[in-house]
Amino acid sequence: MAVEEGRIVFIEVREIKKTYAMGQTVVPALRGVSICIEKGEFLAIMGPSGSGKSTLMHLLGLLDVPDSGSYKLLGREVLNLKQDELAEFRNHTIGFVFQQFNLLSRTSALENVLLPSIYSSNGSNREKSKQLLEQVGLRDRIFHKPNELSGGQQQRVAIARALINNPKIIFADEPTGNLDSKSEVEIMELFKKLNEEGITIILVTHEEEIAKYAHRVIRMRDGLIISDEKTHKEGGAGKEIGEKFMEGAVQRKDFTLLSSIEIFEHFRQAKRALLSNKVRTALSMLGILIGVGAVIAMLALGNGAKQSLEQRLSSMGTNLLVLRPGSQRSGGVSLEAGTVTRFTSFDAEEIVTQIPLVSKTAPQVTGRGQIVYGKRNWNSQILGSVPNYASMRAAIPVVGRFFNDEENQKKSRVALLGQTIVKELFPDRNPIGEVIKINRINFQVIGILPEKGQSTWRDQDDVVIIPLLTAMKRVLGKEYVDAIDIEVKEANQMERVQDLVNGVIVKSHRLPPSQMDSFEIRNMAELQAALSETSQTMTWLLGSIAAISLLVGGIGIMNIMLVSVTERTREIGLRKAVGARIKDIQSQFLIEAVVISVVGGILGILAGGGVTFALSHFAGWVTHISINSVLLALLFSSVVGIGFGFWPAKKASSLNPIDALRYE
Ligand code: ADP
Repeated sequence: MAVEEGRIVFIEVREIKKTYAMGQTVVPALRGVSICIEKGEFLAIMGPSGSGKSTLMHLLGLLDVPDSGSYKLLGREVLNLKQDELAEFRNHTIGFVFQQFNLLSRTSALENVLLPSIYSSNGSNREKSKQLLEQVGLRDRIFHKPNELSGGQQQRVAIARALINNPKIIFADEPTGNLDSKSEVEIMELFKKLNEEGITIILVTHEEEIAKYAHRVIRMRDGLIISDEKTHKEGGAGKEIGEKFMEGAVQRKDFTLLSSIEIFEHFRQAKRALLSNKVRTALSMLGILIGVGAVIAMLALGNGAKQSLEQRLSSMGTNLLVLRPGSQRSGGVSLEAGTVTRFTSFDAEEIVTQIPLVSKTAPQVTGRGQIVYGKRNWNSQILGSVPNYASMRAAIPVVGRFFNDEENQKKSRVALLGQTIVKELFPDRNPIGEVIKINRINFQVIGILPEKGQSTWRDQDDVVIIPLLTAMKRVLGKEYVDAIDIEVKEANQMERVQDLVNGVIVKSHRLPPSQMDSFEIRNMAELQAALSETSQTMTWLLGSIAAISLLVGGIGIMNIMLVSVTERTREIGLRKAVGARIKDIQSQFLIEAVVISVVGGILGILAGGGVTFALSHFAGWVTHISINSVLLALLFSSVVGIGFGFWPAKKASSLNPIDALRYE
């Protein structure tokens, strides 16, 4: 720090140079400027347009860095300071007033004035902010937003903002350039008063009228200082020796982590930013909402379909082989009669006795019949089988009992009803013990079958089960059985048993080689596997539709974020100009992004849940929301929201304040 004859040098610049690259051409804006500015000065920088005034001002105000030279501010070399140290200086030592005011739109005058103080160690000070607004004559405009203020009033807000952290120097770049002459005088009077109170003022102007307020005028041309003259005696504040002028310069300790107060402040900033642009916030959330909602609903549908299919598959019975007479076909043409092998109950017994790996068999016949109860009648499937059927095909009655072997042998007229028939014929009474007619023969209802649901090809609950012999001899008039279910003891023996059954049938029917395939043995386990695979495919299909929705939602968010990136970059520039450190900016934007993602994600979960509920409630589809789909959706929403919300902000936060402020 140079202290000469009782004077304190605030700014000492030597030979600074700055060039701008414009594509191929290089524009030299400053070609070696040296200047000394003392405490308490009121300095005007003048010169024609393009002479480098603003560039010099931005370098002095630490909004930009020169290509070479040296710059001592309050005795400290600043050109090799880190970004955050520069932020400290901008925050505490310097106040900047721009020609374009650079206020945060959609934010009240009070909040605008407060802005630098939230990045200072003293914390935000609403009282002081109000006092300053009163001082600049805006007592009744405290809660007005910039677009509700005149140009002069906006500039006064900007001046109050520059003053909030008690700066030592105020830089003003054409502060009255956008103002009418009355406001111009008011603003200049304000600067004059501030200078009298001891604040060093440096302003850029091209008007002689304005320069008259200054005590010293520097003229520039083509990036060089061409004259430097004192016009008045200086303001009185320049000569206090021994003042602790470093006070307030770099005071904040360099916490690598943010304190809870700072985080709280960033939360408030994030909240304010989100609320002040509700449409943008809502649209970003909508993108996440749609993505998350779609994933949840689609996967719920897929899982539901899979589950109901599995349930139905298990009701088909497990470890089952089904033996059927096959019409021998060749190329789709039936061959002559007599090539079909027919079966009887004897075959069923033969199989179970000859093959120890088979636990039980159930021969069965099917046909259709008219069921009548009182005045109601219903055409349904009639199934005749043996008691084994109940356990093999998951048909153990939910009410009443199955028939036994004796009843089968005696061709008893007892029947078990499927759920559909109960609904149709006995809407309001218990069918057990009632007498119904099946094809005009009386039957007593002894049980109700469990619900099996709709399979793709028919209603499995629209069935009446009666004893096999009763069905064959009394109702359907069949001599042969239509199929024999064979239960295999061990699931891994299915194929072996299939071969053994084949052997037994060929042998007992003495089939010649030409008729070897006049019957078929179907492996239900294989069928189940095929169906499961189909349902898996469907889940994948729905999953990919969901993934597309996610992508579309993500692109939506990206668009909104990109559209606002210019505005947000300028905001970041301003925040940096008033002293925000990189981590201040990043944590604010991170919080914003997290809030958008989390709120959007939660709304998406609710929406997905709602759609799922509606589908199962109104359309009757089976749905199942899995916790995995919720987690997946949340993960997605966080990645997209934080990625697109935070990444541009992270990029912008490392720009020079002036570059961010100029961002197009
Ligand atoms: P003044 O404030 O005196 O009008 P500036 O400092 O704004 O002058 O500009 C000095 C020179 O640098 C001008 O020739 C201008 O065109 C150029 N310049 C200023 N800013 C930029 C920039 N961001 N990119 C390229 N050239 C610039």
